[in-house]
Amino acid sequence: MTSSPVYPKPRPPTPAPAHLRKPAEATPQAKRAHAWLHTARFLTTAPQLEHLPALEVPEFAFVGRSNAGKSTCINTLTQQKRLAFASKTPGRTQSINLFSLGKQGVTDAVLADLPGYGYAAAPREAKLRWQRVMGNYLMTRENLKAVVLMCDPRLGLTELDEILLDVIRPRVAQGMKFLILLTKADKLSHAEAQKALSIAKLQCGGGEAKLFSALKKQGLDEVATLLWDWSHGPEAENAAAAPENAEEIEDEPPSLD
Ligand code: GDP
Repeated sequence: MTSSPVYPKPRPPTPAPAHLRKPAEATPQAKRAHAWLHTARFLTTAPQLEHLPALEVPEFAFVGRSNAGKSTCINTLTQQKRLAFASKTPGRTQSINLFSLGKQGVTDAVLADLPGYGYAAAPREAKLRWQRVMGNYLMTRENLKAVVLMCDPRLGLTELDEILLDVIRPRVAQGMKFLILLTKADKLSHAEAQKALSIAKLQCGGGEAKLFSALKKQGLDEVATLLWDWSHGPEAENAAAAPENAEEIEDEPPSLD
């Protein structure tokens, strides 16, 4: 009598290392938020506060010291290579640049790209003027719904970032949204990133902090979804997520890369 061969038990497949894994498929909510952000188009540029149009729609201000990665972040969020670099063209660097968001040309929110601060070589007068404009904007802009502060985690919050935090603190206490985005997260090890994130969470008093990398598309879905939620509110969120509206969710627009 021959004994039947003994086969080794099949082993469960070994998961691929994290850096080789395919990124998780974006949720329908993230896809919808990306499609919405992709509608961003230049609205206007305002060198002084009085040149800003009065708007009813929610406005999201993107702020941060020069070189923090603000333009790259806006371009990545909107999937448009040159949108925020329009803010770097001569004549617009010291202005507040507004971009409209909304489908079928109907503006339902606005992104405000504020000039980067802390550029060491800028003349003192220009720095002071800018601090005044930004302070007034953050304190008085009525439709300002949220502030997104870009911060290079290798430098941490600088003195000017702290001044900005002091300026917006009363409005955050009254319900204005606030997000610290730790940019260029790809330059940090996992441990360094987690440490920077815990510090930022302590510093953002009443707001949120997230890691972000334009290069690795890290945090992109989360930030896009957060902006959508802030703009459309939980009510719209629930309605849009209901099955009868499912077919209205558009596919992610093609990458511009
Ligand atoms: P801004 O002055 O705040 O608008 O900063 P930029 O968007 O111009 O970025 C400043 C520098 O940081 C540029 O050299 C970018 O290529 C680089 N940068 C921006 N985002 C990232 C990122 O996610 N990862 C890496 N490694 N570099 C980035």
